[in-house]
Amino acid sequence: MKIKFLGTAAAEGWPAIFCACDACKMARKLKGKNIRTRSSCLIDDQYLVDFPPDTYLHGIMYELDFSRLKSVFVTHSHSDHFAPADFEMRYGTYAFIENREPLMLYGNNTVEDMFNSVFEGIDLEDSVIFNRVNPFESYKIDDFTLTPLPADHAQGEMCFIYVIQKHGKTLLYGNDSGYFAEETWDALLKYKFDLVILDCTQGPGDEQLGPNEYAHGHMGFYTNIKVKDRLIDRGAADENTKFVITHFSHNGTLMHDEFENLANPQGFITAYDGMEIEI
Ligand SMILES: [Zn+2]
Ligand SMILES: [Zn+2]
Ligand SMILES: [Zn+2]
Repeated sequence: MKIKFLGTAAAEGWPAIFCACDACKMARKLKGKNIRTRSSCLIDDQYLVDFPPDTYLHGIMYELDFSRLKSVFVTHSHSDHFAPADFEMRYGTYAFIENREPLMLYGNNTVEDMFNSVFEGIDLEDSVIFNRVNPFESYKIDDFTLTPLPADHAQGEMCFIYVIQKHGKTLLYGNDSGYFAEETWDALLKYKFDLVILDCTQGPGDEQLGPNEYAHGHMGFYTNIKVKDRLIDRGAADENTKFVITHFSHNGTLMHDEFENLANPQGFITAYDGMEIEI
């Protein structure tokens, strides 16, 4: 699998649109890997995890051919992960597509309700089709197996992390989420991961937590370490597993280079917009 990180920021982007904090000012000045758009990943050129409002921009930035996009695996309904209005631009004369197969969306019931309400009264002519998926069930999608598991993220919504498998390779798309609930751990520990992508929204902000305390809602770097250690201790990961942190917030304050200095010695790759990894 080829994984490209199209965006690596939390909801507000970094620099955040209306923000004048020091971390945003510094990102605007330094640019490069410090400019972070809202998070998503492209897998094997044709499968997206999440559809943030920056997806239109991502297509231009990375010269991507989204007419060939087959599926979008949506983690949850927050605006930085699911910005459905642009799906209207795939039907009729908005889009001329060689192979007019529907674009398949997969997600929870909250995302489904949002999709249905945005397109109430609009006939998308089956150019985009929503498929609801349930936690702990596995779905065959082309060459992939997709398994949603409950995240620790939002009240009132069954937010997902995803286990994504293809041709003997296994990746965990673990954001947005705090430290996983035990029922999610029970499922995770049955796999052997080649790549683990974790939520680092809190940056180093969870350092003060004790050894048995965990960040909830979103992880920070010290909770990322606890997740990594547990996966390795239980045999679900080893020295060949790649660990990537992403979904950074300006509240985490560290510039990309500073984050690498913190993360590299602990065996983490610090994601940046446009980064590619192959497993
Ligand atoms: Zn988010
Ligand atoms: Zn800021
Ligand atoms: Zn969220």
